[in-house]
Amino acid sequence: MLFWGKSSSECALSVAKKYSAENVILLNHDINGHVEQACTKKLKQDVADYLGLEITYANHENWETATPIQVCIDAKAWKVGSGQILCTNRLKTDPFKKWMKENDPECEFTYVYGMDKSEPTRVTRRAQIMGAMGYKTAFPMLWDESEIIRLSDIGINAGAIYDTFNHSNCIGCLKAGWQHWYIVYCTRRDVWNEAKEGEVLIGYAIHKDKDGPVYLEDKEELFDKMVAVGIKPTEKIKAQTFWAKVRKEIRKYDLELAELSGHDESICLDCSL
Ligand code: SF4
Repeated sequence: MLFWGKSSSECALSVAKKYSAENVILLNHDINGHVEQACTKKLKQDVADYLGLEITYANHENWETATPIQVCIDAKAWKVGSGQILCTNRLKTDPFKKWMKENDPECEFTYVYGMDKSEPTRVTRRAQIMGAMGYKTAFPMLWDESEIIRLSDIGINAGAIYDTFNHSNCIGCLKAGWQHWYIVYCTRRDVWNEAKEGEVLIGYAIHKDKDGPVYLEDKEELFDKMVAVGIKPTEKIKAQTFWAKVRKEIRKYDLELAELSGHDESICLDCSL
């Protein structure tokens, strides 16, 4: 099974309980520690230790130095082919396909994923993609709750990353939206600057909206204002609520600024007899 975050760890535990740990392979892509948090690596090791299994790795050949941004800069693109994010392809999909070809040539294994009931589209899409290649899939998070083992049931902590983020993706995930990138701006300026430089080197933005590319640099003024009005960098607030709060606070801030400048009479020019 594929395993890297909280849900997939709980899938591993649930599958091992149902089918026995000896029938489970904990397949993982090790990602450069610059963007994969130490607590995520610890979580994987804690779960493997609990199950008494080794982690099996399907890694990019230079995973210790390759970062999502760097593999994109090397390829001079953020996306490949039909629009798949290039870092996923290089760091995960390609090593995974290679591993399956070498280790499961007859398509005998069942590949287990951690999507849950709130993600029906992702479940269907994943099952279809794998099915088209001849592989079976399973989604234990869709099982009855009584069959699911939660990390909290066995006293394993998912890691500090979940205090801020909803997923244990790379910091500066190239698929993530602006709420994630606001956190990167506030907490990992090194990754923000690398991505900004990547946009210059590649000549295209990571993000786009309905009007076309939107560059990171163009968001800095807004993000600085968000910092000034005290917007907490977090994914723990739903995007809609988060941005509604941002709009409200920024409007207040702009009004206050306008009032300040409207009533600022500069220096006193009349302080002598
Ligand atoms: S988690 Fe995000 S940045 Fe990391 S490989 Fe996947 S798409 Fe790329």
